[in-house]
Amino acid sequence: MSDTRPDFSTIPSLDRILKTPEAAALVETSGHEPTVVVLRGLLNEARAAMADGKSIDVSESAITQSAAIRLAQAAAPSLKRVFNLTGTVLHTNLGRAPLAEDAISAMADAARGASNLEFDLATGKRGDRDVHVEELLCELTGAEAATVVNNNAGAVLLLLNALALRKEVPVSRGELVEIGGAFRIPDIMSRAGAKLVEVGTTNRTHAADFENALGERTGLIMKVHTSNYMVQGFTASVPEDILAEIAHGGDVPFAVDLGAGALVDLERWGLPHEPTPRETLAAGADIITFSGDKLLGGPQAGLIVGRRDLIARLKKNPLKRALRCDKATLAALAATLKLYRDPDRLAARLPTLGRLARTAAEIRRDAEALRGDIVEFLSADFTIMVADCAGQIGSGALPVETLESAALTITPNATRGRGAALKRLAARFRALPIPVIGRVQDDALWLDLRCLDDIDGFRAQLRNGADQ
Ligand SMILES: *Cc1c(COP(=O)(O)O)cnc(C)c1O
Repeated sequence: MSDTRPDFSTIPSLDRILKTPEAAALVETSGHEPTVVVLRGLLNEARAAMADGKSIDVSESAITQSAAIRLAQAAAPSLKRVFNLTGTVLHTNLGRAPLAEDAISAMADAARGASNLEFDLATGKRGDRDVHVEELLCELTGAEAATVVNNNAGAVLLLLNALALRKEVPVSRGELVEIGGAFRIPDIMSRAGAKLVEVGTTNRTHAADFENALGERTGLIMKVHTSNYMVQGFTASVPEDILAEIAHGGDVPFAVDLGAGALVDLERWGLPHEPTPRETLAAGADIITFSGDKLLGGPQAGLIVGRRDLIARLKKNPLKRALRCDKATLAALAATLKLYRDPDRLAARLPTLGRLARTAAEIRRDAEALRGDIVEFLSADFTIMVADCAGQIGSGALPVETLESAALTITPNATRGRGAALKRLAARFRALPIPVIGRVQDDALWLDLRCLDDIDGFRAQLRNGADQ
């Protein structure tokens, strides 16, 4: 027992602190109630610390300063902007597609007030929320009808439930896809109430396999775009037009989950070809699903296009109601789709495409321009270089194709403890006001600059946080 008892009387009262100009300023910005809650917490902590015999600064100014930090932390959003320098353009964990300015303002307008979301302005009667995108989707894909749900996983679930409940669905064993985050075709199939019938083998599936699987109980034939892997070597799969023929011979629909769903041919921008909904419908598919926030470059959504009678059955299904999109999503999607009417300006207006279309030479110029800033940001313990690298489209789109890109590589000079040094380095970049997310590879932190759209902002925060 120490002979000097803690002197709690040195701790100021809440009332006294609230009368200081510093506390008044906090009340002004954060509100009375939040400020009082934080101050009370700090005073309780001070009392507890003092009781433990710790010597702490309990001056009014120290307490209001701590309160200011806590209030600022509490006000900061949990979901915040980051710099995606991973080299993966459509990074699912970093929010996939960045939206076009047109889509962002349409979203804000829809969010701000009432709209004709499900209201027919011509008749004054209840409307259908799909009308805001259906015509556009039909125009851009050549489909008869279209509908939209929350995401492509939901679209597949709805399609199977509406068209193949308690029926069999033959799928090639080579296409039993798992997408990250627990989307697996066999699981979705059973949750939708459809019975998966695996046909063929992992590497080879033939038309006869589907013909043999087709029977009384078949609900539809399904093809799944193997978006995040590739079966290579001694392989065979059944082309879409043949699958369509087989399905139609058995009087069932042919459905395709296209996954990434590029709406236009990406070869025009020097990118590899990805099947479009228009091509797939032309090959005989009756109904197609794809994502809104992958190659399409729009908001998270599951787009479904195809035959009018089939789409009508989906729209009547209760799952459609459960999976429907919000007004802001529909507004963003409609604005994004409109950009596709003018392909000449698409890369300039659609950030996803703009990023995918950037050349390695352009990216290298950015890397060279920023190298000095990184050198100044870090101590002399690191070697910073500009290097060629291979990025990815991401979200499962074209998994084997890489995007030639350029990166800044940061290597700790000391070889001992390099792994730990890299972890600390990556954490330091993540702790910046706008966190910078790179990737650790080959003993270095790689910052692939393909997706860096705000060089000035990036540079400014490095200058503020440089090593002394
Ligand atoms: C990405 C993907 C999905 C899931 O789409 P979400 O929009 O993420 O729900 C389903 N199927 C395939 C083939 C995909 O590539």
